Amino acid sequence: MEKGFQLGDFTVFQDSKTGRVGISDCDGNIIVPAEFNTKEEIGQPYELLVLGEIENVPIDEREELLVEDLGIETVRVCDNCGKVMHEGYTLGGEHACCDECAIALYKDKDGNVYPNAEELFQTDLDENDEECYWTSWEG
Ligand SMILES: [Zn+2]
Repeated sequence: MEKGFQLGDFTVFQDSKTGRVGISDCDGNIIVPAEFNTKEEIGQPYELLVLGEIENVPIDEREELLVEDLGIETVRVCDNCGKVMHEGYTLGGEHACCDECAIALYKDKDGNVYPNAEELFQTDLDENDEECYWTSWEG
């Protein structure tokens, strides 16, 4: 299974009416609105997401950089593998891109995943559905 950010997850798209460009994800969701004349004008979000420079940023610093510093509120970062995503799990204060990564977040303070992590995750989804759910992040 592929982990983390993959080149091609994000691409430059052009608004057919205005001719301006922004960034969308591989499912066509708008990540950065088409408010720029060129991809170079998009600047750091283009370099990080489309050119893949986010790979050089430590996983635990990615979300702060993208969401807080650059104001891209349409994405979160998987706390397990570092993937930048528009849709995923919210688990209390953490985020995960898929079931496998969500289960991997159920670990003790020494970093060992609980033997019953999968069961804990399912129970949270079923019974703690105000804090644990699948969602998409909108700007
Ligand atoms: Zn992940």
